[in-house]
Amino acid sequence: MKQIITYSELRERRRCPYRAHLNYDRRITPIVKSPGLREGTIFDAGMNALYDYVAATGSYSSAPMREAMVREWAEERDRIEARIPMMAEEWEPLQERVNLLYEVADAYVDFAAVNDHFDAIVCTQYEGRVPVINEYGRASTKYDLRFKLDGLIVIDGKLWVLENKAWKTIAQDAIRMLPLDEQCGMYLWALRQQIKRHEAPGYIADAVKRYGWPVGVYYNIIRKATPRVPALLKDGKTSRDQRCDTTAEVYEATLIERGQDPADYADVLETLRQKGNTFHYREAVYRNHLELEEIGQRIYEGTRYLAGKHRFKFPERSCTWECAYFALCLEWSEDLLAEQYTVRDRRHAEYEEIEEAA
Ligand code: SF4
Repeated sequence: MKQIITYSELRERRRCPYRAHLNYDRRITPIVKSPGLREGTIFDAGMNALYDYVAATGSYSSAPMREAMVREWAEERDRIEARIPMMAEEWEPLQERVNLLYEVADAYVDFAAVNDHFDAIVCTQYEGRVPVINEYGRASTKYDLRFKLDGLIVIDGKLWVLENKAWKTIAQDAIRMLPLDEQCGMYLWALRQQIKRHEAPGYIADAVKRYGWPVGVYYNIIRKATPRVPALLKDGKTSRDQRCDTTAEVYEATLIERGQDPADYADVLETLRQKGNTFHYREAVYRNHLELEEIGQRIYEGTRYLAGKHRFKFPERSCTWECAYFALCLEWSEDLLAEQYTVRDRRHAEYEEIEEAA
């Protein structure tokens, strides 16, 4: 029997072995009052539909993206309703958040139609698994790593893993971390392992023959916000406030719509152009052979950590807001366990024990 592990479990095992023990070994799950809206699931469905459409037709349209998001939102509503019946007014804020996602999606299609320079889209949403490789280069008989890519694309004749990210803000410190992004590094390592072991599907193997091995991760970051329309002042002019959270394109289009001359607002437009697009950001991060080898070892060492059955606590300040097991960690109590937590029947679906292939 092999055990499937994921990046999330490896991360949690290292962050706090005790928390991972409660979550993965004892299968204890906090009872949540509201199951919460999975915005990422809705947006991912839209992105996949968009790029499937682009791959099939070579053109861009917001319709397939919107249709997929509407379908996913209907499923999300059913899921939430099944967990907890909600009043009509409780649905309103969720619907508003989904409406914003629709607007973000429409704006993204306009942006992508101009700025995507992909030679080819090999696939969207690819899921696979590979054995963890031990320190001697041998495949583990105990652990497989499961990974999931948003897509595989070709840019300037090179093959890239596509990673779509929907962020609340596009913060510089988060961008600086992209070259160290462990999750996508592990996914790239896993994909290359699969190719090396001749276990990748034919269409990926063909793409590798044509374009070479995947060279890195192409981050496609989309801010979950849309550019603001600049305010219309009482004297009929458009606000010159340069802190307005918008783009030069939206500002100029607003001026034209209001019958105003963009030349009169050249200074504002120039500032906005210099600020650039703060709603979409892209960066291609190469990962070389040595980096990937080190990432592979990090995965292996993570599984050693798991095999060691560590259960020590790792308390730090972030526990108070980040850990759903805080109360239980503070003082173990059977009453608390019964009131605030539930025990899953088995490991999370993505962690089920599976028969090892003969
Ligand atoms: S509160 Fe902190 S120390 Fe306790 S289980 Fe959670 S992460 Fe670990």
